[in-house]
Amino acid sequence: MMDLVTMRETPTNAVAKSHAFMLRTGLIEPESAGVFSYTALAVRSMLKIEQIVREEMNHAGGQEIRLPVLLSADPWKQTGRWDSMDVLFKLEADGTQFLLGPTHEEPITLLAKKRIRSRSQLPQRWYQITPKFRKEKRPRAGVLRVREFIMKDLYSFDADAKGMDRSYDAMVRAYWAIFTRCGLTTLFQTQADSGAIGGDASEEFIVPASSSAGECEIVHCTECGYTANIEKASCTIPPWKEEALNPMEKLHTPNAGTIAEVSAFLGVTPERLVKTLIYEAKYKGAQTEVFAILIRGNLDVNEVKLKNALGSECISVKPAMIPDIEEVTGAAVGFAGPLGIQCPILADGSVVGIQNFVSGANDTDYHFVNMNWGRDVKSPDKVVDVRSVRAGDCCPRCTNALEAYTGIEVGHVFKLGTVYAEKLKATFQLADGSHQPFWMGCYGIGIGRIMAASIELHADERGVVWPVAIAPYHCVVIPANLAKHGDEAGNIYRDLCDTTDVEVVYDDRDFSFGVKIADAELIGYPFIIVVGNKGIEVRTRMTGEVTSLLSLYEAVGMVSQGVETALYFANSNAH
Ligand code: ATP
Ligand code: MG
Repeated sequence: MMDLVTMRETPTNAVAKSHAFMLRTGLIEPESAGVFSYTALAVRSMLKIEQIVREEMNHAGGQEIRLPVLLSADPWKQTGRWDSMDVLFKLEADGTQFLLGPTHEEPITLLAKKRIRSRSQLPQRWYQITPKFRKEKRPRAGVLRVREFIMKDLYSFDADAKGMDRSYDAMVRAYWAIFTRCGLTTLFQTQADSGAIGGDASEEFIVPASSSAGECEIVHCTECGYTANIEKASCTIPPWKEEALNPMEKLHTPNAGTIAEVSAFLGVTPERLVKTLIYEAKYKGAQTEVFAILIRGNLDVNEVKLKNALGSECISVKPAMIPDIEEVTGAAVGFAGPLGIQCPILADGSVVGIQNFVSGANDTDYHFVNMNWGRDVKSPDKVVDVRSVRAGDCCPRCTNALEAYTGIEVGHVFKLGTVYAEKLKATFQLADGSHQPFWMGCYGIGIGRIMAASIELHADERGVVWPVAIAPYHCVVIPANLAKHGDEAGNIYRDLCDTTDVEVVYDDRDFSFGVKIADAELIGYPFIIVVGNKGIEVRTRMTGEVTSLLSLYEAVGMVSQGVETALYFANSNAH
């Protein structure tokens, strides 16, 4: 008996479309925050996704392995991630510390260290499709951000940077094949921040989705193709038009502490303001530093870019506490400025070249106007790019206006370089006897995220719309009235089972036709065969097309050909 339990109403806690439909179709059952059971329908889809991933990984030179999920803490202490990664599920047994693998750079580097002795054994590309555990602070949107999920992770080991680049390029090609085969036909490959994984370069694969589902913000240039996550994106600031320098003045600006208030009070646009924000950075070894970051009044700081600008020793940044701000400025919050501030200063590139600008005077209720670099205040020593890029900003490559999207990160590829191999002393021997650390890459794909992203992309108001390649079943046969049409519907079902590769469900539940058709549309079978008084009809879920008055053989032929054609087109993206 097929396990099918559906819900008519949208659960109130489900904001994202995929979350709501996965609950309503019974694909998932919540266990605890960010932890789900996957029912038979979901597992059928996930196995298909895994198989597509497996085929493409194998084709790209991958070999499937299996690392433990239960990992020793020591290697993670050696790389520093035991302390720096805040999502680790840590446990202890008999006085020994363990963690549940959130990703597997440490154990796989040690596996390579054991097995790869010489250059002649390289390259190696090893992958697994296994559960990962992350203590996500805010699990959300159903299976899009969970604490336990299945990930495909491949790790490449090469002898040099060129080899690493070749492995990376092979994975990027494989990723395009995987996502298009899975029906994720709208997809961006974007420059990304490397986050806790670290390394030299990384790109994400993003499926555009509404902001209720997608957490990634990306910008894209339709002119030159530049695409980047806003945690990484940059934009060109149009140069400041030269103007005559006016004498600087200190003006009384009572109660004007925000950009909007100062702009309104002084009658200037926010572009003329140099905003001075006070932050606190935390470095490895628990050291902290309060510093100022200067940015144009109309722009915002992206804190991930700011953290990265402070270098690899920086663990986190956050706005400084009020007493710290008051200490470095000697004034109330809202009146900070570069002249006379008692802390190191960083400047975003947007304040370079600005003339006759306005800044806080480090004196409560006072601002400077007509301040100029060099003449009134020392030009900033350290210029960084920390501004948050938005729609309409100028593309850093071609200056065309950028577009902005939200989306779901379904995959992520990283060039790791030699960082992990060096920290874990994983080396191979060259012909001259010398030892060299591995050049590594790592490449993740969330299996559940692909399933949910597909639902976000294709679902309509009636329910899920599966692409054939990852649909749990291809077709459902529904007798309009079980007593009257059961025999014929049963014959169609058996014919599809016996003579075709169509994966078919026979809905012989003793429910009304209305309920069954609503369920079929909610579940999203690509094809629905209805047997009723008017004969046989085939409904195609993706297009909404209805073909009526078919014979049994025509209906079977149409569905099996439809499935075959869809799979043929999906697989034509395979390598
Ligand atoms: P995010 O930025 O969404 O937290 P991440 O960059 O930390 O993800 P990676 O380490 O790059 O994630 O993981 C590789 C892939 O695993 C991601 O591209 C995504 O498909 C999937 N994934 C990561 N975290 C989760 C999660 N909490 N729930 C479901 N899938 C996840
Ligand atoms: Mg990622």
